[in-house]
Amino acid sequence: MKALILVDIQIDFCQGGALEVKGGDDVVAIANLMMPYFDKVVATQDWHPADHGSFAANHPWRKPGQIIELDGLSQVLWPIHCVQGSFGAEFHPQLEMDGIDKVFHKGMDRRVDSYSGFFDNGKRKTTGLSTYLKNEGIKTVFVMGLATDYCVKFTTFDAIDEGFDTYLIVDGCRGVELNPGDVSAALEQMQSVGVKCVQSDKIMAGLV
Ligand SMILES: [Zn+2]
Repeated sequence: MKALILVDIQIDFCQGGALEVKGGDDVVAIANLMMPYFDKVVATQDWHPADHGSFAANHPWRKPGQIIELDGLSQVLWPIHCVQGSFGAEFHPQLEMDGIDKVFHKGMDRRVDSYSGFFDNGKRKTTGLSTYLKNEGIKTVFVMGLATDYCVKFTTFDAIDEGFDTYLIVDGCRGVELNPGDVSAALEQMQSVGVKCVQSDKIMAGLV
């Protein structure tokens, strides 16, 4: 049994969003194309309270891109994004929600960020995604979405740790690239822990 994990395909990460990922909109059509090929489709949704500690605006004199310590963990500061109930936190309007079986929220605790769809960055709390997938008999996961070098990368790391056979749909991802080379480094890191890289056309051709 295979599941598709769609990571944070939300308005704030797409064109014109508060934390725009270049080309973010391009992954929406690929996500829609991929859905029918999987037994289960889940989506993660970054879902922060307005006072979240990852927002630079919540730290006097700090700017997005700077790194601070947040409750014992190193934290990149971001622009305000994906605030619970806000327009920017909604899924991209073209994402076919009828094809998604379940949504998992993350990033609700103001003291810790949550890049992965499985756990927060301190691995203190689970989102319930792993238990859900295991209860559904899922052994293999395919991950795609936004952004390659943060939420997608950490979702694949946890998928591997949780024992799933893990694939990355490379053309279904776009990266933040805060520093040049971040995306290619992320791809190498994922492959080094056992993530297999595929392209969406191979899935549609039944080759994976
Ligand atoms: Zn966030």
